[in-house]
Amino acid sequence: MKKNYLLTPGPTPLPPEVCLAQAQPIIHHRTPQFQAVLKEVGEGLKYVFQTKNDVYILSSSGPGAMEAAVVNTLSAGDTALVVQGGKFGERWTEICKAYGIKAEVIDVPWGEGVLSAEIEKRLKAGPAIKAVFTTLCETSTGVANDIEAIGKVVGGTSALLVVDAISGLGAIDLQNDAWGVDICVSGSQKGLMLPPGLGFISVSAKAWKLVEQAKLPRYYLDLNRARKAWASTDTPFTPAISLVIALAESLKLMRADGLENIFARHRTMADATRAAVKALGLELFAPKAASDVVTAVKVPQGIDGEKLVKTMRDTYGVTIAGGQAELKGKVFRVAHMGHIGEFDIIVGISCLEKVLHQMGHSFVFGAGVRAAEEVFAGGKQ
Ligand SMILES: *Cc1c(COP(=O)(O)O)cnc(C)c1O
Repeated sequence: MKKNYLLTPGPTPLPPEVCLAQAQPIIHHRTPQFQAVLKEVGEGLKYVFQTKNDVYILSSSGPGAMEAAVVNTLSAGDTALVVQGGKFGERWTEICKAYGIKAEVIDVPWGEGVLSAEIEKRLKAGPAIKAVFTTLCETSTGVANDIEAIGKVVGGTSALLVVDAISGLGAIDLQNDAWGVDICVSGSQKGLMLPPGLGFISVSAKAWKLVEQAKLPRYYLDLNRARKAWASTDTPFTPAISLVIALAESLKLMRADGLENIFARHRTMADATRAAVKALGLELFAPKAASDVVTAVKVPQGIDGEKLVKTMRDTYGVTIAGGQAELKGKVFRVAHMGHIGEFDIIVGISCLEKVLHQMGHSFVFGAGVRAAEEVFAGGKQ
C-alpha cells in the first residue's frame, strides 16, 4: 500500500484534531450548542483575519466568497480595477464580466508582484473606479503581493480594496484593519487546515456603505442576510455544520500557536524549499516576489514537467501541483501551507530528487535534502 503525502496549495493536509472534530455526530444548527460554536469561530476568525469587523461564513468554496464581494458592492455598469498576474487574478475579471462590471485590468507579468504605484496611477486616471480587486498570494505563480503598500494608495480614495486571501490567510501576514483592506475573502482548504467547503468574507464600514447601494442581483450570497442573521449568532441558511465544528478546532490550534509563530514557520518552510530546489540546480519562477505559501519552480530543459508531477504522485504518493494555464508543464509548485512541518518538506524534496534523477536531471543525490536540513538547522553544516 502506498503512503500519501499532500504538498499542494489547496487542499492542504488536516491536523488529526480537525479530522476528528468533523467526524462527530451532527448537531442541529439552530441550538444553543451550535451558537456557542459560532460565537467561538466568530472570535477566532477575527483573530486570524486581524480585524475587528465581523467575518461571515459561507457554505461555498473560495470563489463563492469572491463572487459575494462583487455582487454585494457593485451595480451593473460600474468600473473596477483588477490586478491580474496569474490565474486567480483573472478570476476576478471573469466574475466582474459575468455581472456586467467594466473590469480595467492591470496585466502584471506572471511571476511578478503588482507595483502599488501602478494602482495609484490607474486610480488617479479613473476616478469612477469603485473597487480594486487584488490577490494576496497568486497561487498559480507563487507570488505574494504587497497588500500593505496597496492599502496605502487605495486608502486615500473612495475605492474599496478587496483582497483574495484564499491562499495565504493564516500563512503569511495580512493585517486587514491596519493595512486598510475593506473586503478580505478566504476559503477553508488552504492555510486554515480544513477540508474544502467554507468561504469567508470580512467587510469594513466603508464597504458596507457600498453594500447598501449595490444593485447587482443576489440571493444566497446576500451579505445583508448574513449580517442580519449574524446579529443573533445565526446563519441565513443551513451552514456546513461539521465544517464549522472543525473550524473551531483549527482556530483553536492556530490561536495556541500564535500568528507570529505560524508566519515564522511558513517562512522557514519556504526558505528550506527554495534552498533545496536551488541546490538541485533548479530555478525559482518568481525569485523577486516569492511567497512563503507556495514555491513555483521552473521545470528544467529536457524534463517533462507534467510527467514529473504525475510520477511523484502516482508512483510515490507525493502530490505536488503542476503549472496552470500558460504555465502548464513549465513549472511545478510545492506548497508549504498550513499543517506542514520540516519532515513534510524533506519527504517532498527527497521524492523530487528521486524522480528528477530517473528523468535524467543531473545533480548530487541528497543536495536538496541537505540544503533544506541546513535551513532547518539555522546554518550550514
Ligand atoms: C485556491 C484559490 C482560489 C480558488 O478557491 P477554491 O476554493 O479552491 O475553488 C482562488 N484564489 C486563490 C488565490 C486560490 O489560491
